[in-house]
Amino acid sequence: MLNTTIETEIVIIGAGIAGCIAAISLAQSHRVVLIDKLESPVDRIGECLAPAARRILKKLNLLEEFESSISINEWDHENGNLHIKNRGTQSYWGSSQVHIVDPLRNPDGFGWHLNRKAFEDFLRFSAAKRGVQCIWPAKLQESRFDDENWIIRTKKIDQNLQTESHTINAKFVIDASGRQSHFARTQGVVRNHFDKLIACWITMKNAELNSMSTISTSKLGWWYSAPLPNNKRIIAFQTDSDLIERATVKELDLFIESAKKNPEMERFLEKNTSEIQFHGTVAANSSKLNQVTGKQWVALGDAAVSFDPLSSQGMFNAMANAMQLTELLLALNLVKEPTESKNRVFYEIYSQQINQVWEHYMKHKNIFYNQEKRFKDEAFWSRRHVDEFNKNT
Ligand SMILES: Cc1cc2nc3c(=O)[nH]c(=O)nc-3n(C[C@H](O)[C@H](O)[C@H](O)COP(=O)(O)OP(=O)(O)OC[C@H]3O[C@@H](n4cnc5c(N)ncnc54)[C@H](O)[C@@H]3O)c2cc1C
Repeated sequence: MLNTTIETEIVIIGAGIAGCIAAISLAQSHRVVLIDKLESPVDRIGECLAPAARRILKKLNLLEEFESSISINEWDHENGNLHIKNRGTQSYWGSSQVHIVDPLRNPDGFGWHLNRKAFEDFLRFSAAKRGVQCIWPAKLQESRFDDENWIIRTKKIDQNLQTESHTINAKFVIDASGRQSHFARTQGVVRNHFDKLIACWITMKNAELNSMSTISTSKLGWWYSAPLPNNKRIIAFQTDSDLIERATVKELDLFIESAKKNPEMERFLEKNTSEIQFHGTVAANSSKLNQVTGKQWVALGDAAVSFDPLSSQGMFNAMANAMQLTELLLALNLVKEPTESKNRVFYEIYSQQINQVWEHYMKHKNIFYNQEKRFKDEAFWSRRHVDEFNKNT
């Protein structure tokens, strides 16, 4: 077994959107190691990037390359195009009449539908280019705090069952491992789950000229469809894990049968002649760590709070959260010169920032779900109506 020891100031666990943006912004002032259990990003659901992300990409000098990127960049040799313009959403929510929200009056302009895998590749590539020490695949194995430093052990087992491990000594740990919040959980921190939402998704060729996203409700939950780069389309269904028959979200034929009962999804499926790719089910519930920071560690992005996909804000939140964290660490100079009193100030301010985001999110989520009254007696909707706000915060 090969074991390498690395000394650094900050180790970030998880090279998703939160981890990469934090790595890129912190690498200007700190030695940063970024690890991920995956050798390269995989296809994932979640492609709608909010227009406000433009400001963050610009601040990090990533915007130009991002906007001009099509298929020929170094990091993008096999992923195809990185994004297409998001031209707005047509929603059938609360009424069978279509309601259109377009970005024309948004001061940040248009957002994007991303090729998510390519976007994550782009961010990983940019982090490496900015001097971040990137290690993947490397899965967090164990962590302990010893003599003012964190000691993080990672492990990788390759196809030939050869093991490679890293021991990373760092002053500060950022848990950006997504909903699993792997590091925080190993510290005994509890994650609160506020609902049982899951999402089941398929992709196929896009045969539709209308380039808006579509949202449409049903008794059991809500449907979503959007065009993706490279002439693809996604269709996803959001429901509670205890309300749906398992087979409907496990078997393509049953999923399609169920999708065709929704008039908007039926239109997309009717036109389709291509092979459909079934991607299965992922967790999509609202959840929050009951402690988002501790002694020289912090949880970031989905690791701290995860949103209902209805908000379409998860990626932007992960990016904004990473920028706020960078500012706070720099203002206190906490990594290079940690003291007990600075740690206390950091704990207060960071926890407050996350709580504010969470309260804002919950308020808007409840307002939105309350607007669909047609199925108010159905379990999916009654669970989300009225006093949910008070119950959840
Ligand atoms: C159904 C659905 C639809 C969504 N749609 C949208 C949308 O349209 N727009 C939007 O903005 N957001 C959307 N989101 C939310 C968005 O995907 C997340 O908010 C975003 O991925 C959060 O990024 P992150 O970097 O915090 O976590 P993640 O993207 O989950 O990244 C975590 C990283 O950590 C790595 N990792 C995990 N465990 C370990 C370990 N033990 N050791 C090492 N590495 C580890 C993983 O491999 C991964 O790369 C959606 C989410 C869902 C579920």
